[in-house]
Amino acid sequence: MIKQINKKNIERYSRQIILKNVGPMGQKKILNSKVLIIGLGGLGCPVADHLCRAGVGTIGIVDFDKVNLSNLHRQSFYSQKDMKKFKVDVIKKKINLINPKIKVKKFKKAITENNANSLVKNFDIIIDGSDNFKTKFLLNKISIKYNKTLIIGAISKFDGHVFTFNFKNKNEPCLKCFYQSEPPDDDLLNCEREGILGPVAGIIGSLQANEALKMILQTKNYLNKKILILDALKLSFKKVLFNKKKNCICKK
Ligand SMILES: [Zn+2]
Repeated sequence: MIKQINKKNIERYSRQIILKNVGPMGQKKILNSKVLIIGLGGLGCPVADHLCRAGVGTIGIVDFDKVNLSNLHRQSFYSQKDMKKFKVDVIKKKINLINPKIKVKKFKKAITENNANSLVKNFDIIIDGSDNFKTKFLLNKISIKYNKTLIIGAISKFDGHVFTFNFKNKNEPCLKCFYQSEPPDDDLLNCEREGILGPVAGIIGSLQANEALKMILQTKNYLNKKILILDALKLSFKKVLFNKKKNCICKK
């Protein structure tokens, strides 16, 4: 059923409907979009927060973990009373406290080769908030297969990366085009060992939500063929262009 804008949600979304790039038509697109978030940690929390407030109609959330004390310095949806609860349960509840109209589909599991197809294929946009390259490369492969949009975030220490791939485009490069080989997981991304500053997770997660909304609104100027690199210590953002590799898995 196509969701329409009514009097109530005009007020709720008025500050974004007023934007030229959104308008009533754009808001209707947001209300009817389906976004899957994999990983409900430092990245997944701000992504879920921004997208439910913006009115993304269906939000899928995938995570097998429970909230623990070391999550609280950066994972903005959780409080101390959520300790030992499953993250998907906490987030579903909070999303619906913020915006009761959002349909939340929760998946209390890790994404694997066996379930990735069924998880990914029913959503339009896939957002990676995972903390490991194995998951990122799996999402890359499955998103190519189903021509999805994939928005990847990676964080470590004071550094953050964002990629956006629209696999509906024939000439779109993929994560494998950028990394010659799969980086070992203890190389980057290990918040437990390497550490992470909370705001870095917030910035990168917010950028991923921003990219998702732009993709829904079809604003065209997404992070196309580039990686965005944040160095929060130097406070520098740079975009680095990279090319589609010959004979990569993204070849169509
Ligand atoms: Zn590729």
